Amino acid sequence: MSKPIQAQRLEGVDKNIWVEFVKLAATYPTVNLGQGFPDFPPPDFVKEAFVKAVSAENTMVHQYTRAFGHPALVTILARFFGKLLGQELDPLTNVLVTVGAYQALFCCFQALVDEGNEVIIIEPYFDCYEPMVKMAGGTPVFVQLRPKATEAGKLMSSRDWQLEPAELASKFTERTKVIVLNSPNNPLGKVFSREEMELITDLCVKHDVLCFSDEVYEWLVYDGKEHIRIASLPGMWDRTITIGSAGKTFSTTGWKVGWTLGPDRLLKHLRTVHQNSVYHCPTAAQEAVAQAFQREFDNYGKPDSYFVQLAEQLQQKRDWLVQSLLAGGMKPIIPEGSYFLTADFSEFKSELPDLPDSDEPYDSEFIKWMIKNKGLAAIPISAFYSTPHKRNFDHLIRFCFAKEDTTLKAAEDILQQWRLEKTGQ
Ligand code: PMP
Ligand code: GLN
Repeated sequence: MSKPIQAQRLEGVDKNIWVEFVKLAATYPTVNLGQGFPDFPPPDFVKEAFVKAVSAENTMVHQYTRAFGHPALVTILARFFGKLLGQELDPLTNVLVTVGAYQALFCCFQALVDEGNEVIIIEPYFDCYEPMVKMAGGTPVFVQLRPKATEAGKLMSSRDWQLEPAELASKFTERTKVIVLNSPNNPLGKVFSREEMELITDLCVKHDVLCFSDEVYEWLVYDGKEHIRIASLPGMWDRTITIGSAGKTFSTTGWKVGWTLGPDRLLKHLRTVHQNSVYHCPTAAQEAVAQAFQREFDNYGKPDSYFVQLAEQLQQKRDWLVQSLLAGGMKPIIPEGSYFLTADFSEFKSELPDLPDSDEPYDSEFIKWMIKNKGLAAIPISAFYSTPHKRNFDHLIRFCFAKEDTTLKAAEDILQQWRLEKTGQ
């Protein structure tokens, strides 16, 4: 009898939407509005910070640094976010630098979720939460954002997707260890309101539940909307881990620098996972992110701030893509934040040739067809739902609008041409 090869904890978590759709978009010539990354460069001061880091006289930047975060980076993160959270942060105990927000999430689940623990995940959700809970031995418990009907003639907003308070409350039991909150949310771009956060806070306090608050899109909020940090609400600091990403913050997704902020009583366990897995993150990238944050600290809230400028630019790009999709015959849901936009493609259902009977949700089939036949890439919304709910919203697909104007124009042209072929006008 041969021994089983695969560890049991990998059961059912082998498929990955990004691996599949990134490969597809690279195989065919596409205008790629799929995977979420900017195709425009980071600002000059960020690139210069990296060049300066590697050309610095201090040759130690090429060597290992402190395991839990390069001193320059944890210092500025503690100063910067201490101010925003209204909390004195100790750079050595309240900050942990990770390999992107992905590893921050992985540390959270590995360190704090046990066999038998339940973790509440709000659907639609960034896909990796579910496999990470399962790999830690926990059980994901899903609660859905429910779309409210909109007035006739009005476009739907991500704000119209809401938690049903009684339904949310019913998910908290004595087995609940954690709720995962992602605001601004990927994929809808929903920015949770203070009232919604207070609802979550009350339940966390009442049931002694932790909160993993994934805030990687914290600077990308539009139309004057405010990003609220749940850790700053009364009763939440001590039970929340806030997660951020330099990839989203400075348009440098390839640098893979992320962080967690939180009380030492929680972070000390994340440090155990970190020191026994990756140990530390690349020093030069951390040094560059530290310099970039220092510049943003000095410019905070001023017109020169990259955070202010990026949100303004992205809001324009969002509005452009909304118009292109409308003109093309899709119905966008206007995001209040993030760099994603979800659209209803129901009108296109008759477009597709008969698809072979397949286990795949319709949105996934549709995008594969769209990539191959129209040269336009997006991501199926079913990827952001648990297995029993994957087909509930498979008339929706997600586009990324953090793209050069030339890329958005190319997408607009494809949609226009498609419309012409479909309707003759
Ligand atoms: N959380 C969310 C909601 C995301 O969209 C992403 C993708 N960037 C991540 C975490 C992971 O971020 P990073 O690229 O910093 O690992
Ligand atoms: N967060 C990005 C997205 O949602 C990238 C995800 C990934 O590459 N795994 O598109």
